[in-house]
Amino acid sequence: MLKYLGVIGFPLRRSLSPVFQQAALDDLRLDIVYEAWPTPADALQTRVTTLRAPAVLGANVTIPHKEAVVAMVDDVDEVAGRIGAVNTIVNREGRLFGYNTDLPGLMRALRQDGGFEPAGRRVVIAGAGGAARAAVAGLLEAGAASVTVINRTLSRANRLVEDLRPYADGNELRALPEIYASWVAVMVACDLLLNCTSAGSAGFDSESPVPFDLIRSGMLVCDLIYDPAERSPMADARKRSAHVVGGLPMLVYQGAASFELWTGREAPVEVMFEAARSAVEAGAARGRT
Ligand code: NDP
Repeated sequence: MLKYLGVIGFPLRRSLSPVFQQAALDDLRLDIVYEAWPTPADALQTRVTTLRAPAVLGANVTIPHKEAVVAMVDDVDEVAGRIGAVNTIVNREGRLFGYNTDLPGLMRALRQDGGFEPAGRRVVIAGAGGAARAAVAGLLEAGAASVTVINRTLSRANRLVEDLRPYADGNELRALPEIYASWVAVMVACDLLLNCTSAGSAGFDSESPVPFDLIRSGMLVCDLIYDPAERSPMADARKRSAHVVGGLPMLVYQGAASFELWTGREAPVEVMFEAARSAVEAGAARGRT
């Protein structure tokens, strides 16, 4: 029987998951179709219910539903519960299990593509949404000595910090307002700058809030935005000889972890990378960036 997977989000115009997940499924000759399932908030509960059908293996969940679906699945694994966000649902005989593969995806990208080991290091995170939550949880778990969250809406950053403080294990965890003085104070002793805001991605008018002029040589800059694959501020960072990692590695690794949960097979990561890169380049060629 043909099986189905899909990504649930809204408006879902720029999701790359159908492209690179289908490439991986086809590479392993699996009889599975991966679809885009655009779902507004008022249709989310109904959409999640359809995942219980025998022909559906599960789904990815993306902006803006990662937090809302936590209450709609039957079981939430420890990592997803800690972060408060589910990005992967697995249907096991009509029972829905929620996971968060953003955390392992990011940590793999930092280690494998950034050569960065978080233990004992100082990290500055821009943004306090779902992606920032996964990042803070992963970096604290890996033993980062200091994590500072800077966000436009300070109350949201404060909430993130309070929710995850129990996991800080005595290491520094704080929230600061998004003003230049905050950046000046933290960037002098920063090993990793992580942009977890959506500002600056394709389709967004606003510029990134990260002051790239404060980037120092030797620092790792990781920008979760994958479309465009490399933004001009990141190119600037490279000129300042900071090491730069874009959002594509995390995207592919979180997708690979989801793939393995659904299929029980090792994900063909190189095939996924190739498909994702081609899709971003094709989008850029059409002038959408
Ligand atoms: P959320 O919508 O949960 O959070 C968005 C964050 O961006 C908030 O902190 C928000 O601030 C901030 N923000 C948005 N616009 C601006 C602006 N103009 N100026 C300053 N701050 C702004 O999104 P997610 O956390 O889920 O995702 C964030 C980004 O990371 C997205 O671009 C997403 O595509 C990307 N991402 C990439 C992944 C990958 O695998 N590479 C995985 C997950 C996400 P405020 O709280 O003030 O609104």
